[in-house]
Amino acid sequence: MTPPTIAVVGSANLDLVVQSERLPRPGETISGATFARYPGGKGANQAVACARLGADVTFTGAVGRDSFAEEALSGLREAGVSLRVRECDAATGVAMIEVDAEGETTIVVAPGANARLAAAEVDVADADAVLCQLEIPDDAVLEAARQARFFCLNAAPARPVDVQPDLLVVNRLEHAVVGDIGTLTAITLGADGAILLESGKEVARASAPSVDAVDGTAAGDAFTACLVVSLLEGRPRDEALRRACVAGAIAASRPGAQPSLPHAREVDATG
Ligand code: ADP
Repeated sequence: MTPPTIAVVGSANLDLVVQSERLPRPGETISGATFARYPGGKGANQAVACARLGADVTFTGAVGRDSFAEEALSGLREAGVSLRVRECDAATGVAMIEVDAEGETTIVVAPGANARLAAAEVDVADADAVLCQLEIPDDAVLEAARQARFFCLNAAPARPVDVQPDLLVVNRLEHAVVGDIGTLTAITLGADGAILLESGKEVARASAPSVDAVDGTAAGDAFTACLVVSLLEGRPRDEALRRACVAGAIAASRPGAQPSLPHAREVDATG
């Protein structure tokens, strides 16, 4: 079977992660933390996930002319994603993440170049499906939707947007913000799995396999990518939703964002 082609238009960040016993209070300095850096951003994460799940993926995005740019794109390159990335006069997007011993986090995102992604850079009409999140400007999302044969939106982080995606993926909080804009809408329910609605009516429901959750950062990214890839592969909706829940659960059971995203064979072995 020819793999489906997916164009992801979205964000690429470098995640700078410090782990300490506890989180600092405002004005406080804590020492003794450990530091790590990982490629991230919902756009890049979902593009990597789609590639690992067997799709032929292009990524459209923006980075800065700085030393973080290549590192932010490194996961995409390793996953074999084709890059349509512009360098612009802004810093590469950064997420500053603090994690305490219990896994509680505080996160500050500096979108930088991601906020400069322009509609004119979006050229995705050739893909079977176009997938966006909301870490880029509305203009770029609207242009991606206009060109798409099948438009998928993971409305995270949530804000009201004036598009009607063919497939909307949201958690409950995001759903409350964006409303019933999707033809098909998948609502994720954390450890309780997910439901799929068509024009507001439930058409499928799946539970998530039970796992020891260690880091839910990329669970939504793995879920979204797996649902899109599975539907494009022509799988029935309930099977696609079940696979997406398995992919989300696998990602939640592993630390980190991009390293935790499962391959198709892992999803099929767990499902
Ligand atoms: P988000 O992080 O975007 O709010 P969710 O927490 O709903 O998204 O997770 C997305 C999907 O990942 C869920 O629908 C579920 O399939 C899976 N998942 C997330 N957390 C867990 C968990 N603790 N146990 C099993 N599966 C999980």
